[in-house]
Amino acid sequence: MNESAVNEPKTTGFTLETRLEDGARGTMTDRPLGRTGILHTPHGDIETPAFIPVGTKATVKAVLPESVKDLGAQAVLANAYHLYLQPGSDIVDEAGGLGAFMNWSGPTYTDSGGFQVLSLGSGFKKVLSEEFSGSGRADAEVAPAKERLADIDDDGVWFRSHLDGTKHRFTPEVSMRIQHELGADIIFAFDELTTLLNSRGYQEDALERTRLWAERCLEAHRQLTDDRPHRPYQQLFGVIQGAQYEDLRRKASRDLGAMEINGQRFDGFGIGGALEKENLGTIVGWVSEELPEDRARHLLGISEPDDFFAAVEAGADTFDCVNPSRVARNAAIYSPDGRFNVTRSQFKRDFGPLVPNCECYTCTHYSRAYIHHAFKAKEMISSTLATIHNEYFTVKLVADIRQAMRDGSYSEFKSETLGRFYAGNWGRVDGGLG
Ligand SMILES: [Zn+2]
Repeated sequence: MNESAVNEPKTTGFTLETRLEDGARGTMTDRPLGRTGILHTPHGDIETPAFIPVGTKATVKAVLPESVKDLGAQAVLANAYHLYLQPGSDIVDEAGGLGAFMNWSGPTYTDSGGFQVLSLGSGFKKVLSEEFSGSGRADAEVAPAKERLADIDDDGVWFRSHLDGTKHRFTPEVSMRIQHELGADIIFAFDELTTLLNSRGYQEDALERTRLWAERCLEAHRQLTDDRPHRPYQQLFGVIQGAQYEDLRRKASRDLGAMEINGQRFDGFGIGGALEKENLGTIVGWVSEELPEDRARHLLGISEPDDFFAAVEAGADTFDCVNPSRVARNAAIYSPDGRFNVTRSQFKRDFGPLVPNCECYTCTHYSRAYIHHAFKAKEMISSTLATIHNEYFTVKLVADIRQAMRDGSYSEFKSETLGRFYAGNWGRVDGGLG
């Protein structure tokens, strides 16, 4: 590396900042796994660990992009599957890419569509097991398969749109083309989602398919990058599957970590698939230990406070989840003492903020009584106000974790935060959170 390259600010890639000395360590190297860092993109830097709010269809539902920025979000994540079906990735491309289309000037992510194709498209929703979808290999205790809407073969997946039932095909090349048209700064390789219900044999087959698809994604990404020199560089993250199996997770991490096709490597990694809550930190730890340290790691789909601590400590850098906004629309409010539902009658005449001392826009301008009323009256502002608070709470929690890691107070901050949340005054409010 020459001198000028050293001094120039990075526009893409990951810079490791500090290692978490008082957190979990690897089982093979005894190295601290947790870290803080900076993920550089052409639309700005993301300080990590960071929570990335989800804007599924190019909008964080009910909230203007200005508010998303004000609440502290450093980036947003949209779904390739949804934007491919509606309005079409070609239209987003014509608009100048996802950020320009949705009026978000900061960094953007899109996922590959694999998760939606194999969950939504399959007609299973909760039970995401391709193996049990009418292939005749189902265990007896599994409910009879519903109509099979997703068909996996070695080349790709046929699936039906959840909107109108029309038939579509995703392959690694199609997913890459769609994600290049969408133009997000961080994009993901097309992978096969499996579940804990799949057998070990099926997991092995699926993992090999995902490995071969990863190679095809790298090649397609390289070609598309060359073909579209007018666009800023998009960083491609490979997705690590392998369910709950240590050998499979480690193998997938080594394979994708070292993978290089015509000079193209993965710029970072997503940790995907089935993760049982109690094994989350362990599984992320296996993966972090095997992956190159100079690439960012994104954990798909978590938002519980204890999950953040477990994942950060095990070396995950960024997170996304729809829950903070989804549950907000059902009046479930996040607080340091657990979650509560603001439609409870006790809040009818409560003129204090949703959470005392919360500095979000909602809490500094509105009362519990007003938000209670807005939900009861089914006014749209109820979703807006609750979403701003929940996203603020979640983004800030991870930002506070980051700060505690930097100033050496991680262990204290963790026990204080989790002790309060799970012994909270409100208890766990699970009703209406789905
Ligand atoms: Zn608030």
